[in-house]
Amino acid sequence: MITFLSGGTGTPKLVRGARRHLPDQSISVIVNTAEDLWISGNHLSPDIDTLLYLFSGQLNTDTWWGIQGDSFHTHEELKRLGVDEYIGIGDTDRALQIARGELLRQGHSLTEAIRMLSSTMGINARILPMTDEEVATLIRTDAGTLHFQEYWVKHRGNLPVKEVIRYAPTGPFASSEVIDAIERAELVIIGPSNPITSILPILECSGVIPALMDAFVIAVSPFIGDAPVSGPAAALMKARGLSPDSVSTFSLYRDFCNLFVQDIRDPVTVPGSLRYDTLMTDIGKSAALAEALIEAGKQAGEKR
Ligand code: GDP
Repeated sequence: MITFLSGGTGTPKLVRGARRHLPDQSISVIVNTAEDLWISGNHLSPDIDTLLYLFSGQLNTDTWWGIQGDSFHTHEELKRLGVDEYIGIGDTDRALQIARGELLRQGHSLTEAIRMLSSTMGINARILPMTDEEVATLIRTDAGTLHFQEYWVKHRGNLPVKEVIRYAPTGPFASSEVIDAIERAELVIIGPSNPITSILPILECSGVIPALMDAFVIAVSPFIGDAPVSGPAAALMKARGLSPDSVSTFSLYRDFCNLFVQDIRDPVTVPGSLRYDTLMTDIGKSAALAEALIEAGKQAGEKR
């Protein structure tokens, strides 16, 4: 089994490629939930939904969120009625949020809800929320302290970031399923996801880092030079006092990372890193990178 640690864009691109080489049954994905929120009465879990739609064949891979070809009638009507739904939620996509909200309201944990929904959606991979407890990434700006979604979607990331705050009133504790997925994995891959908003929240769940120390871990940098391939990672790294590059990314993972992968174009040097073409502009390139990582993991495993 291979276990991924994932946000909602960079790592899902890699998981998409890995599916060319592995059956879904042997893939587990531990997913960031620090961007989750209740919106318009329902439960949005952006990174989990990207994985659910990827594995069920519905994902819009132009945006890496939402369902291909979805309509937005309800969203438009809600806005006309004065509801501040600042995230564009598609009509079919909303059904999943309603279904998950119902399961949570009935008392199921998020892990149980995702297991039930995965089964109904015909998904054979294990999609695991990092925790069943409430966690949120908050961004402190001059306009106030905002939920990450408000900062990134409503304000389009156009506010200077003063601080990145993790709100986790009861922990967070990794679920036992998450720890099991790391312990049983032949290889753990931290894909090129945003270190601050996608990977650190997973690492902050208690039990995750000790489990990773006993696993074989490959991590892929989301940076080329001093810029991420996409998204707000640079501003968020700087707000944490880190340079927005592969060196700082590696510094966050070094305690448990066995192999670190940088893009062949990255001018920054992390000593000992492997170099591959990590720009996953199509499924072929995702599959080639995934194959290289699986092979590197196997070769390292044979030497151990
Ligand atoms: P989010 O939840 O939507 O922010 O998604 P992730 O955290 O999973 O992924 C965002 C990160 O993916 C950004 O920091 C990007 O730099 C990185 N990324 C996106 N596409 C690629 C790619 O093709 N190659 C690499 N190396 N990084 C990528």
